[in-house]
Amino acid sequence: MSASPEQQMQFLYALRSKGVTDKTVLSAMERIDRGLFIKGYFAERAYEDMPLPIACGQTISQPSVVGIMTQALKLSGRDKVLEVGTGSGYQAAILSLLARRVYTVDRHQRLVREAREIFEHLALPNITAMTSDGCFGLEDQAPFDRIMVTAAAEDPPSPLLAQLKIGGIMVLPVGQSDTVQSLIRVTRLETGFDYEELRPVRFVPLVEGLGKDT
Ligand code: SAH
Repeated sequence: MSASPEQQMQFLYALRSKGVTDKTVLSAMERIDRGLFIKGYFAERAYEDMPLPIACGQTISQPSVVGIMTQALKLSGRDKVLEVGTGSGYQAAILSLLARRVYTVDRHQRLVREAREIFEHLALPNITAMTSDGCFGLEDQAPFDRIMVTAAAEDPPSPLLAQLKIGGIMVLPVGQSDTVQSLIRVTRLETGFDYEELRPVRFVPLVEGLGKDT
């Protein structure tokens, strides 16, 4: 990353102290420069452990939350992953170092376009970014080994549950958008789904339909 050594140390310290302990996740987060995903006024705060505004009224998630969600997915290195909510592309870039293939979708075309440019710049060839309504998942590429949703729905959208392989894992925030939400992990079993509550979080809402800029 292009952070100063001191910024980098604080960045990694914040991750560890908030529970990001998986070494492969930490090293992926060390490799992907968060500063590339934040433009303008807030760029100088890229290495602080806080969510920051990006285009289209959205936010790039807090690094420690990115780390905790990535760790909760229990990636094997061979997974086909769907991310709903590309946003800046930061989370997808981290996933791409830990997965075989990453599909990421956002309802805002502008965000997808800008994220793609960064993926090209970083030479991350295993990410496909598309403008689409992630509430319906990505039927063409389903089923997925792992699904991560980075916007909050009241309940896990049923198309996403349906597109998860047996043994597959989905991590997502659920709950009302203006109150505290819960990060949950859903594991698909042969006979149904297992739900675990991980921690309280706060995300922008999952909104149906495409954004106005498309
Ligand atoms: N993962 C992002 C942060 C995502 S912010 C990052 O690393 O920067 C949440 C994103 O979800 C926003 O960009 C928003 O446009 C998107 N979103 C909300 N509802 C959506 C939907 N139905 N389908 C696809 N994307 C959606």
